[in-house]
Amino acid sequence: MFGIYTIYWILGFVMLPGIILGIWAQTKVYTTFNEYSKVQTKHGLTAKNVARYMLDGAGYSDVKITHIKGELTDNFNPQTNTISLSDSVYEQSTISAVGVTAHEIGHVIQHKTGYGLIKLRNILVPLINFVGYFVWPTILIGLILEMIYANTAADWLVYIGLGLYSLNILFCLITLPIELNASKRAYKMLLATGEMDVDEAAAAKKVLSAAAWTYVAALLTSVLSLIRMLLMIFMVRGNGRE
Ligand SMILES: [Zn+2]
Repeated sequence: MFGIYTIYWILGFVMLPGIILGIWAQTKVYTTFNEYSKVQTKHGLTAKNVARYMLDGAGYSDVKITHIKGELTDNFNPQTNTISLSDSVYEQSTISAVGVTAHEIGHVIQHKTGYGLIKLRNILVPLINFVGYFVWPTILIGLILEMIYANTAADWLVYIGLGLYSLNILFCLITLPIELNASKRAYKMLLATGEMDVDEAAAAKKVLSAAAWTYVAALLTSVLSLIRMLLMIFMVRGNGRE
């Protein structure tokens, strides 16, 4: 029904909007981050000191702050109760450095206060890692059974595989509001603690909003890969039942 090259082209093109948005978002993050890495905050405190000050102020003196190698590798690990700040953040007092730090503290507060979506994501992550092994085998076995028995009795197996695959979309769908919420908390904290004035906080917001676009791109990519998976299944079925 379909030539093999036609199939490759169609499947490749399906992913194209996700790839383009992904590249655009990454570029935007790096250019915005670098732009405001040249601007020092008026307050002048380094990111690690800002982190300590904000955490102590919020009552989380138990949270540790360490340095991590790399660019934009900053994160909060709830298991080790540690905020890791990257090369261009840790000892810097730039708008970008302090903005990213406040965002990570936003994540600390989400974890410590039991923010609902974080709880949901904590359940989802091990589940996705576990079912990840079964997605392709389930779909493939379903399709093979369909071909062998030349009927749609094995359809359900394919749909279970698709259902498991859709958990990736759910993960991205939950991650996006978590990230936006951490940035919103960051913006408020930066102003409330006096680490930034309104103009500086607006600039920090630009850096954090740029980062949010990478999560939008991840969401789009996860939806497109489900569409691609559906197309593959239709094509296999079409070829098998000519
Ligand atoms: Zn984040």
